[in-house]
Parts: sequence; C-alpha cells; structure tokens
Amino acid sequence: MKQGKLIVLSAPSGSGKTTLVKYLLHKEELNLDFSISAASREPRGGEIHGKDYYFLSLREFKDKIKADEFLEWEEVYRDNFYGTLKTEIQRIWDQGKHVIFDIDVVGGLDIKRIYPERTLAIFVKPPSIEELKIRLKKRKTESEDKINMRVAKASTELATAPQFDAIVTNDDLEKAKAEVFQLVKKFIT
Ligand code: 5GP
Repeated sequence: MKQGKLIVLSAPSGSGKTTLVKYLLHKEELNLDFSISAASREPRGGEIHGKDYYFLSLREFKDKIKADEFLEWEEVYRDNFYGTLKTEIQRIWDQGKHVIFDIDVVGGLDIKRIYPERTLAIFVKPPSIEELKIRLKKRKTESEDKINMRVAKASTELATAPQFDAIVTNDDLEKAKAEVFQLVKKFIT
C-alpha cells in the first residue's frame, strides 16, 4: 500500500483556510490533492458533488459510519455530519500524491493522532473573533443564527491551537500564503 503525507489545515469557520488550501493546491511542486469530505448538509450555491464534498443524506452518512467507512467523522453542527472516507485517502495516495485536508479542528487532530508521523497539522488563526464575525457576514452564505453558532464554536476551537504542529495567523493573506507554503514544502521534502 502506497502512503504519502497528510497536510491538515484546521480553523474556525471563516478564518480563510479554504483560500489557503486552494492556494496550496495550485502549487504543482507540492504534489497535493484535496481530500473531498463527505457531508450531510445541503450544497451551498455553486458547490459541486464530488468536487467540494460528497453530499450524502443523513441516512447514507449514518450507514457509512456503521460500515466503518470513515477514517474520522464528526457531527460538526447539529445534524450536519462531516467525515473523511478511508477510500478518499487511498485514492490520492494511489496517485502518488500527498493529501490536503480542509477540516475542522477535532477532525484535524484525529488525523494527526491516527498518522502522527505522516501528518503536518496547521492551525489557521483568525485575527480576532470580531473579524471572524465580519467575514462570515460578508460571505452571506449563512443565516444570522448559523453565523452566531459558528462564532460561538470558534472560541472553543481557538483553545485547541497549541495542539497543532504550527499556527499561522491569517491577518495578512499574502503573508499567510507564504508561511503555509514554506511549512508544507519543508514537511514533504
Ligand atoms: P462548511 O459547512 O463550512 O463547509 O464546513 C463546516 C466545518 O466542517 C468546517 O470547519 C469544515 O472544515 C469541517 N469539515 C469539513 N470536512 C470535514 C471532515 O471531513 N471531517 C471533519 N471532522 N470536519 C470537516
């Protein structure tokens, strides 16, 4: 069985980790492929099944939990399950690539625990909780209620930062991009 490395980017929702993941994916020399998670939530505008997520019904998701098909899974928000399928990692390793994850802090630390040596776990820190709220509002993809739920969760998530291999503060996007690039490059070579 071929095994590459695992790069985890975790952060509170709205910290800009998705932008950083996309940036790293464009860097061919890093040889990364995105771990497409399974999710039981509805697709948001423009999201594509099999590209952004494997969108499953709650029922389908729970069946896969029972069948032990997940490396890790979690009920991130109520009835919104997210998880990494074991087949997804293997699909990417079989191509001779490293896996990059855009995943929440609990899932990220689970991956690190399962593959301690192969995983680089990076915590992307928002400049502040206030700034996080502004970013989520600007994104206009969630209702006020959902934004509040995500902001409340962010405080607990911030407390996990010291358990990660590295912390990158995203107050200046260009600087954050350069930092994650260097971290990943060093880890895979
Ligand atoms: P969103 O609904 O904004 O796409 O994602 C909500 C949260 O679920 C984000 O923090 C995202 O990183 C996390 N998430 C996405 N995929 C996974 C996964 O496979 N496992 C876990 N544990 N969390 C995930």
